[in-house]
Amino acid sequence: MRVVFLGLPGSGKGTQAAQAAVAAHVPHIATGDIFRANVREATPLGLTARAYMDRGENVPDDVTIAMVRSRLQEADAASGFILDGFPRTLPQGQALDRLLDELRTPLQVALYLRVDVEAVVRRLSGRRVCPKDGSVYHVETQPPKVPGVCDLCGTTLVQRDDDREDVARHRIQVQWAQAEPLLPYYAGQGKLREVDGVGEVAVVAGRVAAALAE
Ligand code: AMP
Repeated sequence: MRVVFLGLPGSGKGTQAAQAAVAAHVPHIATGDIFRANVREATPLGLTARAYMDRGENVPDDVTIAMVRSRLQEADAASGFILDGFPRTLPQGQALDRLLDELRTPLQVALYLRVDVEAVVRRLSGRRVCPKDGSVYHVETQPPKVPGVCDLCGTTLVQRDDDREDVARHRIQVQWAQAEPLLPYYAGQGKLREVDGVGEVAVVAGRVAAALAE
């Protein structure tokens, strides 16, 4: 299965992509997670990416595309992949197609998880993450047992800088302007499947599974 997930930041696509990848036995490749790991480890890639990430802006396409190119050529991606957070610009989508052409493994589905902007701002600004084990919570919809503390490891939860409401709003506007052309692009290839992303995680997961099984 070779699939990309499209959707606004905070649309729930990370959660849905991770579950779909487990079900399909393919790696879940999230570019945001790879960038954050590089920032944590202070690699050259992380140092380049950090300034953009802190402002809630996209890392430049050439940097991002090179990173994805090398990740998709790792052994575990030979059986397929679910890409999450990439592509998010039309040039990234076109570069992905060129790369997959070279590998003779064309993309099969672009799954678009649709949610409205205000819902997404609420989701993002309420999100808290564990800096130690990466667990994700939400102050309203998925609170930890003890407020502000990770259920799994007891570490104090933090809000990502790019989840602050003002940064999140800017991020959504910038990202949507860049990502929207991907919808007609994949529709033109007959690969676009649109899924209503509003609702309980399990309900949305059912819709995603049905769309992928079509
Ligand atoms: P995310 O976890 O998907 O919200 O990504 C966090 C940050 O990583 C974004 O705000 C960008 O700065 C960067 N990033 C992740 N994926 C991409 C991408 N496909 N293109 C450019 N920047 C990205």
